[in-house]
Amino acid sequence: RKYQKFALIIGVTGIVGNSLAEILPLHDTPEGPWKVYGVARRPRPSWNDDYPIDYIQCDVSDPEQTQSKLSTLTDLTHLFYVTWANCETESENCDINGKMFTNVLNAVIPNAPNLQHICLQTGRKHYIGSLEAIMAKKFVHDPPFHEDLPRLDSPNFYYTLEDILFKEVEKKEGLTWSIHRPGVIFGFSPNSMMNILLGLCAYASICKHEGQPLTFPGTKEAWNSFTDASDADLIAEHQIWAAVDPIAKNEAFNISNGDVFKWKHLWKILAEQFEVENGGFREDGEKKSLGEMMKDKGGVWDEIVKEKGLLVNKLEEVGKWWFVDVVLSNEGMLDIMNKSKEHGFLGFRNTKSCFVSWIDKIKCSKIVP
Ligand code: NAD
Repeated sequence: RKYQKFALIIGVTGIVGNSLAEILPLHDTPEGPWKVYGVARRPRPSWNDDYPIDYIQCDVSDPEQTQSKLSTLTDLTHLFYVTWANCETESENCDINGKMFTNVLNAVIPNAPNLQHICLQTGRKHYIGSLEAIMAKKFVHDPPFHEDLPRLDSPNFYYTLEDILFKEVEKKEGLTWSIHRPGVIFGFSPNSMMNILLGLCAYASICKHEGQPLTFPGTKEAWNSFTDASDADLIAEHQIWAAVDPIAKNEAFNISNGDVFKWKHLWKILAEQFEVENGGFREDGEKKSLGEMMKDKGGVWDEIVKEKGLLVNKLEEVGKWWFVDVVLSNEGMLDIMNKSKEHGFLGFRNTKSCFVSWIDKIKCSKIVP
């Protein structure tokens, strides 16, 4: 069987890596089916092993390991970089994420003579600043965010990654790039460091198990305001579009679903999906973060796992509460998709439908009941 394109996905078990691994090998994918190599740090999980890809376990923060495992992939035509490391401070983030990306590029660029294009996934923190800035609610740019906004004057590992990319592509004639900036991603992966849906599903399952209403742990502003999301499959389609369409070369693009929603509307759907009473936003009583509410629930989760035969044993693996708390305390975080549309990418998702279909997939895969 002959392939036209050979992809390397760094972060293949992550929230977008998993979607790329599913979509790239399909016959009806542009220029597909692609031959796919996928890298992740841990052994291959059972929920990822149906995809026809070559799985490579490799820690890309280790330069020797990265060189030895990735320099042999001499047939690569495309690189999809969908990983990151989360450190205590943004300056550490810049350092470690920069090193990881450099290790990969040093192993791939000199050894893959047919390498044509690199897709780098960053995100909306490009416009609103690091997690530190988000927590402190120090926003400079006014939403909706568009790609022409200038960089913020504070450390941001996305800027480090971009600068490394711009410098490295210069070393190989004809090598092109694209940068993809999603907002909050709705997707499947249980190995993701930020999967809001998994956290919400675990929280709803615990409320159901304990006979408690599903109350909204975020702020009133987040409950009531318009926001948006980025579907993981849509982001994968956007990256594949930029990888093959000449018009998308050497550009940065936002990537979101193209509609807006309010958490109060999705909350009703979440409650229905788990057959639990919708507790809504409570004005009264002491306000607790989801992290605080869930800190003693490990035992409850163990009971649910045993009773329902679930795959993921540890509550802290499914519930990245800090991330849910950050998302549910922000308001009006919107971008615009005009640039992608003007360049010919017309993909979109209905956020309510994709919310339900990802919850279905998470349930069917026995990650939550
Ligand atoms: P993720 O956390 O879902 O997945 C990371 C993947 O990389 C996993 O497969 C993991 O095994 C792998 N990995 C981690 N460290 C590794 C290492 N040292 N060596 C090899 N593999 C390693 O990733 P994501 O959320 O798609 O994040 C990619 C980018 O997207 C980040 O810059 C992130 O900030 C950004 N982003 C994410 C979201 C979101 O909601 N998840 C939203 C906007 C932007």
